[in-house]
Amino acid sequence: MVSFALERRAVLSLGANLGDRLVTIDAAVRAIEAIDGIRVLQRSSAWESPSWHPDGEGLTPDYVNIVLIVGTLMEPIDLLDALQAVEDALGRERAERWGSRTIDIDIVAVGTIERASDRLVLPHPRAHQRQFVLQPWLELDPGAVLPGHGPIAELADYVDGDAWRLP
Ligand code: ATP
Ligand code: CA
Ligand code: CA
Repeated sequence: MVSFALERRAVLSLGANLGDRLVTIDAAVRAIEAIDGIRVLQRSSAWESPSWHPDGEGLTPDYVNIVLIVGTLMEPIDLLDALQAVEDALGRERAERWGSRTIDIDIVAVGTIERASDRLVLPHPRAHQRQFVLQPWLELDPGAVLPGHGPIAELADYVDGDAWRLP
């Protein structure tokens, strides 16, 4: 019998605002499914939202975002390495901060871990302020709690910003 007792649940946020956004997101999900040591458990619908930039909203193309819930035994830093390799394989270039990108994969949370290093902050320090993370996550797990921030249903009630579910 296979046991998944030590597996942790990780919440991932995938976003794209360049090219064929849904095609890229599908390719990213397939690449994540192919990673040894990650099982994709749930995938949300696609949600669209205006891009954000310090100079204003909507200056660059709208984003499409999804949330994935995965099971993994990997250490969070190894998970980050594996996800960044997927970004690279899909042609992501690390240009300016807040710039447009073909694919962005953020780790929203890994289990109940609260930990910060140079390369990885858990939970993601801005996830609790983002409807494009909270709305698709709510779809998959309405009772979820974001470590250090509380129930995501409550966060979604008072966070600003707009995100709409694509048909
Ligand atoms: P934001 O963090 O506001 O979503 P971004 O996704 O555009 O911005 P990136 O340029 O993709 O930022 O990432 C910058 C760095 O953030 C990454 O190289 C990574 O080391 C670090 N990082 C810290 N915490 C996380 C996390 N929870 N998930 C993904 N990357 C993280
Ligand atoms: Ca991001
Ligand atoms: Ca990122």
